[in-house]
Amino acid sequence: MHEPTREQLIHWDRNLVWHGFTQMAEYEPLVIQRAEGCTLIDIDGNRYIDGVASLWCNVHGHRHPRIDGAVRAQLDRVAHVTSLGTSNPTTIKLARRLVDIAPAGLEHVFFSDDGATAVEVSVKMALQYWQQCDDPRPEKTRYVALGEAYHGDTIGAVSMGGVGRFHDVFQPLLFEPIRVASPDTYRTPEGIAPDGLRDYHLGKLEEVLAEHHEQIAAMVIEPLVQGAAGMITHPPGYLHGVRELTRRYDVLLVADEVAVGMGRTGRMFACEHEQVTPDLLCLAKGLTGGYLPLAATLATDEIWRAFLGDYSESKTFFHGHTYGGNPLGAAAALATLDVFEEEDTLARMPEKIARLQQHLARIAELPQVGDVRQRGLMAGVELVADRATKEPYPWFEKRGIRVCDHARTEGVLLRPLGNVVVILPPLAITLEQLDRIAEAVEHGIVAAT
Ligand SMILES: *Cc1c(COP(=O)(O)O)cnc(C)c1O
Repeated sequence: MHEPTREQLIHWDRNLVWHGFTQMAEYEPLVIQRAEGCTLIDIDGNRYIDGVASLWCNVHGHRHPRIDGAVRAQLDRVAHVTSLGTSNPTTIKLARRLVDIAPAGLEHVFFSDDGATAVEVSVKMALQYWQQCDDPRPEKTRYVALGEAYHGDTIGAVSMGGVGRFHDVFQPLLFEPIRVASPDTYRTPEGIAPDGLRDYHLGKLEEVLAEHHEQIAAMVIEPLVQGAAGMITHPPGYLHGVRELTRRYDVLLVADEVAVGMGRTGRMFACEHEQVTPDLLCLAKGLTGGYLPLAATLATDEIWRAFLGDYSESKTFFHGHTYGGNPLGAAAALATLDVFEEEDTLARMPEKIARLQQHLARIAELPQVGDVRQRGLMAGVELVADRATKEPYPWFEKRGIRVCDHARTEGVLLRPLGNVVVILPPLAITLEQLDRIAEAVEHGIVAAT
């Protein structure tokens, strides 16, 4: 095949490639050819700061020599072997490293390949656990999930999810979790003061658990920040309270750290902020530094032991993905963890977090901005039609998209969530690049609203 021309690439991209979460009738191709650090370069040589970390997954920048080298070295050994019944040294070493750094008590690792699969795995593990643990509770087959939750796009993950605009069309396919309201620090329930928000929501959760715990296998939660919901931030202490309640009512806790894990909130895992060990913890996105699809579901020894038995007892976890635990991905993940140590990534974050906070404080003054929310290097700027009533702009006005379109003209690549402009750069972002992202957002808001 001849190298296609620029025009062919664009034509084929518009007509052959079906992009996720993208209205193809109005899709304008942006074709990235290569990258340097936190900068993406398109086929025309235009440069953009990667302000959303290539959809929340890039950690140490693109083409990091350490990670590139690790993947190349693994290629010289083997690209893929199955983890169904066999193994390879790289994936084994990654399991060891993850158990070493994870919240104490998570001692086993089930590898899959995406965030959604990591969640599916935990949902199925929780159900099967109650069927065959020492004191079986087969009637525990339901789940608790938060309002506006997002856990991925496969059927089980969509069932747990609660973002109406994405999920309503698939309703006939879904199972129903018990839904509790999200403890949203911006849109608080009427009559509830900010400092009462945590206890109010923990109280609501306790009512649900007290009534239904005998049917509930697990509660699934995005710790601290509900990303795809629009960077909804939870009040301090909520996660800790959820852990206490789920333990008291014999409900497993699944922490979906697909977005917040791997340093995003300033600690390696979001659960560390509240000294929480969940029963199951899901990782994906940043696990390979944003290089390759790899996911992990970490489990406690208690859960693991419930799956041990004679072959004929069928306690096996009958679930697996062809590429789960892929050695190239594992090599990228190991190198990503090495870079965290070698570059002292977490210790260098507070300065960047503070700089982003300063910018957000300024942006919050704009009349079109209802709220700014931040946890680590994860932030959302919510645009509203009316600051007093928090009335949202109608979603079809595409306010968020228009801000990001403007930012692109200033060399900053962003992707919004409805009316929320997301700022979520690689952790390796420089202060100067952060300044440019924030300025582009600020100019975009003024230009687009
Ligand atoms: C992105 C995301 C997922 C889904 O991950 P994929 O790799 O896209 O399947 C699951 N949970 C959370 C919290 C996410 O942000």
